[in-house]
Amino acid sequence: MYQSFLIKYGEIAIKGKNRHLFEDALVSHLVHALKPVEGEFDIWKEQGRIYVDAKGDYDYDHAISAMTKVFGVVGVCPMVQVEDEGYEKLVEEVVKHLKETYGDKEKTFKVMARRARKNYPMNSTEINMDMGEKILDACPNMKVDVHNPDLYVNIEIRQKINIYTEIIPGPGGMPVGSNGKAMLLLSGGIDSPVAGYMIAKRGVSLEATYFHAPPYTSERAKQKVVDLAAIVARYSGPITLNVVNFTDIQLEIYQKCPHDELTIIMRRYMMKIAEHFAKESNCLGLITGESIGQVASQTMQSLAATNDVCTLPVYRPLIGFDKQEIVEVSEKIDTYETSILPFEDCCTIFVAKHPVTKPNINVIRRSELKLQDTIDDLVKTAIETTERIVVEAK
Ligand code: ATP
Ligand code: MG
Repeated sequence: MYQSFLIKYGEIAIKGKNRHLFEDALVSHLVHALKPVEGEFDIWKEQGRIYVDAKGDYDYDHAISAMTKVFGVVGVCPMVQVEDEGYEKLVEEVVKHLKETYGDKEKTFKVMARRARKNYPMNSTEINMDMGEKILDACPNMKVDVHNPDLYVNIEIRQKINIYTEIIPGPGGMPVGSNGKAMLLLSGGIDSPVAGYMIAKRGVSLEATYFHAPPYTSERAKQKVVDLAAIVARYSGPITLNVVNFTDIQLEIYQKCPHDELTIIMRRYMMKIAEHFAKESNCLGLITGESIGQVASQTMQSLAATNDVCTLPVYRPLIGFDKQEIVEVSEKIDTYETSILPFEDCCTIFVAKHPVTKPNINVIRRSELKLQDTIDDLVKTAIETTERIVVEAK
């Protein structure tokens, strides 16, 4: 029944001179998000507002679900937009909108008028008072509540007049691409897809690196990571996924280094290789799903040891999250069901019974000297044989 939507965006409205860049980015992401939705849409800007108009029939639920996934969108308001044909006509339109939307359901309301155009003959307080009375007269099921109403009857007087009562929340954040690009270390677990989502939400576009160890890890384990990237891509846009064959490096570490240090040393090589790809494609940082103390390789000492090999900043958006909080986000963004599929990860294959929990960086560096004759070639080969997959949203 609605043909138009008002798109609310909070944070990006305060970006001063850059504001139009953010708005343009938001418009282009909305265009992209609505592409797979049945129907035809026109997306346009007016000072401080973005509108989506559906031309003819369209899939309402799909359109809402697509628009509310776009970072930067604070809310999507299904609205009626009418020409200014005098106040009496406006009253009619508002009452019609309320009757069509709420029928005879009991609701409390408050009128919220705003004038972007000061030549309108009434000011917003006058409209609020008078419109309230007109609604009470016309709709016996409606009551005023100025403190905690069920719905706000928003009336925005602009070139045209926008009427809306519903705000469907969006994810907030900033339009992807407005804050550069970062490299996500993406495993098949619960945490790293959530970490990628959170950084993308701040306007950062994503590239990803996945380490596998065939034949110790299967093709299905890899497919699971591709599937996770495709879910994250619903929010972040397409993700280039670097799939690194890590087997020989892992075997070499396993043969030469103390077993209780395996995970840490492996992690350090993962970071180095991911950083190589990051720099190659102009990423400004690395992203991991680490959280303090979650496992032995994520104690403060272990994180310091991993960090030690990186020159780019490492962003760890889940650092202070409990597992349950991470699970909640993963359920919300729809990665959870895929993440819990039981496929092996390369980290779980060569794992020590009693890994160090307080690694000393100097000790670790000394252990790595045992790799010095072979590791550079192995890293070079791993980089050269890396498979690149462009993963689109699915
Ligand atoms: P996740 O649920 O994201 O797998 P986790 O709790 O299993 O995390 P670890 O296995 O210690 O934790 O991994 C910590 C982080 O290291 C991950 O969040 C991810 O960013 C990165 N990582 C781990 N394994 C891989 C891998 N095989 N490929 C790419 N990155 C990985
Ligand atoms: Mg993992």
